Amino acid sequence: MPDRSFLNWPFFEDHHRQLAEHLEIWCAKNLPVDHHDIDAACRELVQKLGRDGWLKPTALDTDNPGPLDVRTLCITRETLARHDGLADFAFAMQGLGTGAITLFGTPEQQHWLARTRAGETISAFALSEPRSGSDVANMEMTATRDGDGYVLSGEKTWISNGGIADLYIVFARTGEAPGAKGLSAFIVPAETKGLGIAERLEVIAPHPLARLSFDNVRVPAAALIGKPGDGFRIAMSVLDVFRSTVGAAALGFARRALDESLKRVAERKLFGAPMGELQMVQGHIADMALDVDAAALLVYRAAWTKDMGAARVTREAAMAKLFATDKAQEVIDKAVQLHGGDGVRKGHIVESLYREIRALRIYEGASDVQKVVIARQMMGAA
Ligand SMILES: Cc1cc2nc3c(=O)[nH]c(=O)nc-3n(C[C@H](O)[C@H](O)[C@H](O)COP(=O)(O)OP(=O)(O)OC[C@H]3O[C@@H](n4cnc5c(N)ncnc54)[C@H](O)[C@@H]3O)c2cc1C
Repeated sequence: MPDRSFLNWPFFEDHHRQLAEHLEIWCAKNLPVDHHDIDAACRELVQKLGRDGWLKPTALDTDNPGPLDVRTLCITRETLARHDGLADFAFAMQGLGTGAITLFGTPEQQHWLARTRAGETISAFALSEPRSGSDVANMEMTATRDGDGYVLSGEKTWISNGGIADLYIVFARTGEAPGAKGLSAFIVPAETKGLGIAERLEVIAPHPLARLSFDNVRVPAAALIGKPGDGFRIAMSVLDVFRSTVGAAALGFARRALDESLKRVAERKLFGAPMGELQMVQGHIADMALDVDAAALLVYRAAWTKDMGAARVTREAAMAKLFATDKAQEVIDKAVQLHGGDGVRKGHIVESLYREIRALRIYEGASDVQKVVIARQMMGAA
């Protein structure tokens, strides 16, 4: 049984504890799903999560508007990740993909949200390009005003849900000013003429991922989210909400690695006794538990701070993401070590965690970028 004592921390309200309990039961019944056909698995997960109401917190409820509850997003991601990384991915992308509409969309644009919250429409967030990943301000894709709309030209890459999404939120250069101040955000339905899947990308922990091509893709002016030139601010505001949830997913992977290791060291006999009696093994377990708790404190501090109404949680979210993802990598590596040969055996849970965790230290701001963000926040405040 995973350690649930963190749910008693003062960051949470009773509805968070109930959510954790109910979702745990749902996960035990429904996860993991069969990953052999990754697109089909993802579609099934979105549909099931939507059907059973778990996607509701990912976007604004237009009938009952209010801010997104980041603690709910984090508890959900942590729990899903502990059971099935793909389920966490399916959940997370419904939120990241529609974050710009939730935060900055017009009532007309927010009509999409009922469908994404019900799992009927799959969404994607298209920011990165072949020559602009960490360096977002270097974006090359253009959106040119043309009559009553815009024409989008260029490429996006590493787009999660690319190939299965119904809806892409696309960032492009509209040129109001050089660099970051000349970007805008657009809603682009997948069937829009000129939008193509140039390449499906395979990674070490498979999930739907693609490079997209935009060949004179025409969208109406009503597809623009916010004002022209707001794109960078919109992207950063979305990441400000969702960045700590990446830490929560890492925490879920780390907790699973720790749970599997606790079972292993209790069951496995080495030198005539359970291996958990070896003090060096106890040292690993202590380090893992410490990293898990410290990561949880940072993740839920960031989530709580945002939920308490902070305009921005740039420092808190960067710390949460950096620490939780880097430490989860270390925790999982220790779990692999404690499992011996089984730890590197294809299909073993700790082997899959070892692959799952790696990309989290790269996307939504690589670990190095988070350090720059934290240092700038600290020096700016000094
Ligand atoms: C599995 C996966 C899913 C993704 N999903 C999406 C998605 O849905 N939508 C989307 O838009 N993008 C997505 N991305 C793209 C992701 O955000 C980028 O890969 C990431 O921003 C890094 O950009 P890059 O790959 O171009 O690497 P680069 O920008 O070339 O950076 C390479 C490395 O340089 C280092 N570095 C970068 N900046 C600094 C700095 N300032 N100081 C010191 N070191 C630095 C870091 O170690 C970084 O990893 C995804 C990526 C992956 C791997």
